[in-house]
Amino acid sequence: PLPIVAIIGRPNVGKSTLFNRLVGKKLALVDDQPGVTRDRREGDASLLGLEFRIIDTAGYEDEDAATLPGRMRQQTEAAVQEADVALFLVDARAGVTPLDEEIARWLRSTDRPIVLVANKAEGRAGETGVIEAMALGFGDPVQLSAEHGEGMGDLFEALLPHV
Ligand code: GDP
Ligand code: MG
Repeated sequence: PLPIVAIIGRPNVGKSTLFNRLVGKKLALVDDQPGVTRDRREGDASLLGLEFRIIDTAGYEDEDAATLPGRMRQQTEAAVQEADVALFLVDARAGVTPLDEEIARWLRSTDRPIVLVANKAEGRAGETGVIEAMALGFGDPVQLSAEHGEGMGDLFEALLPHV
């Protein structure tokens, strides 16, 4: 069976955009508005010749603010537990948010490998967010632009030891 890679992170960081790029088909809906209901999706992905199964976590956008963290936590932890490695995405342009920090706390107790990814890192608008991400406790982030396809070689190198 193929190794499993999970994409996790709060809504709107670019998880589905990365999923689409790696699967190469428009299987996951991408929308500018957080709040669109999107389910968890799986697909066969390929990255510079590396083949793996990929899980896009989502489907909690319709939850109200009071229950969102609990639902996100359940889905995030389930996907991470299934995975050989998890990609923890943050938004370099938005910087690290309290929800990112909460997810980082959930992940601290897992035995699964976590690769931190600062997405939306194209251009200079992401520089501060990349530096903030270093404080999350998962090392230096892979700088990526899922939308523009930048940083895919660095993502490959970060995944290689785990798949
Ligand atoms: P998800 O909720 O984490 O699945 O995020 P989406 O993949 O739906 O993306 C949310 C928004 O971020 C969309 O408007 C995307 O076009 C945008 N986005 C995704 N990746 C990038 C990127 O690399 N750079 C920029 N500037 N925007 C991105
Ligand atoms: Mg999504």
